[in-house]
Amino acid sequence: MNRMLDVAGFAVSPDHYIDGRRVGSDEHFVLCSPIDQAVLGSVCEGNAQHVDAAISAAQRAFPAWSGLSAAERKPFLDRFADEIGRRADAFCLLESNDAGVLLSRMRHGVVPRAVQNIRWFAEHALRLQDRTLHTEQAEHRVRHDPAGVAVIITPWNAPLMLSTWKLGPALAAGNTCILKPPEWAPLTCSLLADAADAAGLPPGVFNVVQGSGANTGAKLVSDPRIARISFTGSVPTAKWIAQAAGANLVPCSLELGGKSPFIVLDDADLHNAAATAALMYRNAGQVCLAGTRLLVHQRIAEAFVAALRGTVEKLMIGDPRDEGTEVGPIIHPRQVERIEGFVSRALQGGAELLWGGQRHPFGAQYYQPTLLTNVAQASEIVQHEVFGPVLTLQTFASDDEAIALANGTDYGLGGVCYGETAHAAAVAERVRTGFIWVNSFGIRDLAAPFGGIKRSGIGREGGDWSFEFFCDVKDVILPKKPFRASFSHR
Ligand code: NAD
Repeated sequence: MNRMLDVAGFAVSPDHYIDGRRVGSDEHFVLCSPIDQAVLGSVCEGNAQHVDAAISAAQRAFPAWSGLSAAERKPFLDRFADEIGRRADAFCLLESNDAGVLLSRMRHGVVPRAVQNIRWFAEHALRLQDRTLHTEQAEHRVRHDPAGVAVIITPWNAPLMLSTWKLGPALAAGNTCILKPPEWAPLTCSLLADAADAAGLPPGVFNVVQGSGANTGAKLVSDPRIARISFTGSVPTAKWIAQAAGANLVPCSLELGGKSPFIVLDDADLHNAAATAALMYRNAGQVCLAGTRLLVHQRIAEAFVAALRGTVEKLMIGDPRDEGTEVGPIIHPRQVERIEGFVSRALQGGAELLWGGQRHPFGAQYYQPTLLTNVAQASEIVQHEVFGPVLTLQTFASDDEAIALANGTDYGLGGVCYGETAHAAAVAERVRTGFIWVNSFGIRDLAAPFGGIKRSGIGREGGDWSFEFFCDVKDVILPKKPFRASFSHR
């Protein structure tokens, strides 16, 4: 066991959590805060032994955990949710420090949601039992059996929210889990292990193995003993994981990046549309579902840009731990350079800068909210995910043109459409994405399906869809008439 890290006054373990206990290692990676590049400490890197130990522990724990009914698992998970809630202050400050997420957002959005992710799916699992279909020939008792050991891999932009979003249904369904946190922001996942331990989750039911994707993550997803992989992250990683999963025929759920359209029709409430568009700079644009391609009717484009500029100019950029801050830092120096590369190539290609376009004076890892126009549909800046506070603006003259632009990328995660309600809903229905908000943004109900199409992902999570993924659906068939065996029987 290694010495605890002290981050913002909270003690957090740098070790893995395997089979109900902390496990250290000699290999470490150094964690720096995106706020000011302060070294937060060294975190253990998982090697082949750690991966093997975690999978073996999860396998050993599986028969007893899966043997419980959903009602019997629920008290464990309710206590897990309680223990997360009890550590709210620590979760807020840890993720603010290692991922740069606004403290206010952690407090009012992410932590309550993490608690709900565990509690809601534990409750929802109760209603999955004993679905029976009656057909002419038979009674079909359709069961949702736990699949086995689930590997959960999450990205740095929302580690606590996304880890609990997957752990909730995976555990409630009766699987045992191994969480591989993002190496740039692993601290809240380590604290989740403390919460699970305090809640009395049996050893091996929930394990955390830290480390880089290429090393620890790759070993986990390549192991033939696992039954499910639930991954949220980038398209290149997903392609790699899908190949590893394919080699063992392990089902995987892939929630990936986006380049979502934000459509503003000529009958939209401009003020509301612009206020919502400014939200695309939230988390410094490091949000998979942000509508980063503004598609605005040419008749109202000038007024829309003026309204958006008014809001953007007032955005408070700075330390995410300060109450008034609205836009925080970029996760990593490498990511800042990546954003700079996108913007400079766009400008070289003829794009016009409406605002931003450089680092923010607040610090090395802060980038100004940026808007580029005069961008061609085929250009890199329109086609590829920047994952920073960079939006593009294109105009259109008709609904058909708006829809063609909206659908004209390889991505298909989300979208936003502002306009007169019936008009906006009709346009939204023709946009090819996994979900789209009409005159709104960011509403996410746990009961609703979430996921992308095209290069934005495979599969859906949320509500029943999470259980369809994390369970083996089995049909126990009881014939209604006595069955007489015969070769001519159909
Ligand atoms: P990433 O793909 O680089 O990493 C995601 C996770 O995968 C990390 O934990 C990483 O360690 C792990 N990983 C990397 N290589 C691996 C391998 N070979 N085997 C197993 N695991 C491996 O993504 P990122 O940069 O951390 O996150 C940003 C991306 O995530 C963006 O593309 C963003 O759009 C996407 N994202 C999608 C959603 C969604 O719900 N659709 C939500 C948040 C983020």
